[in-house]
Amino acid sequence: MPETSRPAHPLSADEALRFTASRATETTFFFDFDGVLSPVTDDPDASQPVPSVLGVLEELASRVARVAIVSARPVSFLRSRFGSLEHVDLYGLYGLEVWHDGDVVTEPAALPWVPAMAELAERAKAELPQGVYVEYKRLSVALHYRTVPHLGGEVERWGHEQAERVGLRIQGGRMVVELKPPVDQDKGMVISDAVLGAGCAWYFGDDMSDIKAFDALRAREAVDPAFFGVAVAVANPETGAEVSSAADLTLDSPEDVARFLADALPVLAR
Ligand SMILES: [Mg+2]
Repeated sequence: MPETSRPAHPLSADEALRFTASRATETTFFFDFDGVLSPVTDDPDASQPVPSVLGVLEELASRVARVAIVSARPVSFLRSRFGSLEHVDLYGLYGLEVWHDGDVVTEPAALPWVPAMAELAERAKAELPQGVYVEYKRLSVALHYRTVPHLGGEVERWGHEQAERVGLRIQGGRMVVELKPPVDQDKGMVISDAVLGAGCAWYFGDDMSDIKAFDALRAREAVDPAFFGVAVAVANPETGAEVSSAADLTLDSPEDVARFLADALPVLAR
């Protein structure tokens, strides 16, 4: 008999999976990329998904309503890593870009900011000390200090000054400060929109920006008693405690995410 009332939080992985199986056709699985599907690397351009996760995501997409990746990366980067997956949707730049029907759709309100972001990336390369990696993403600029953690304070200060000067927003993260256009879009808003009409959703994240997505699942549960949301943290030494304490479940690593999903597939069998 299908289970009708959703499990209470806190819950176990088994409970969450069994209930999800009872409504798999109305369930979406959302994943962040860095630190969730891929180990975090010193060089952001070098990061690759855990090899086994590609097949698992495609298989998962055949068993639930939808699988989507929601990342700070541009869609072009996500396509370079997941282009072979036909049934996985891609949200780039915190949802400012969406891959839809073979095209990248960009949030129109963000487009006028393209020249300012390009100028900012050039300025960052010229003014920040060596070792800081400037990642230019067309509609955002990320300043990574993973290989020079002692420069974190200086990079944060520079980023905040520039945000003030240009009129940009700041998104903090793991050894990174990111500057974005002042356009209302974040992972929480992506999830709020995407779960309208869904019966169940899971979100896997590891960083501060993912907590907004967890909150969006909670908010949906609060207004829709039939909706069931599961927030999964992926542990790490940088934001681990804060993200984990906001989640229902915690997995140890991207490899553990791949294993968890592989084990979940038989439970979600159609
Ligand atoms: Mg991440």
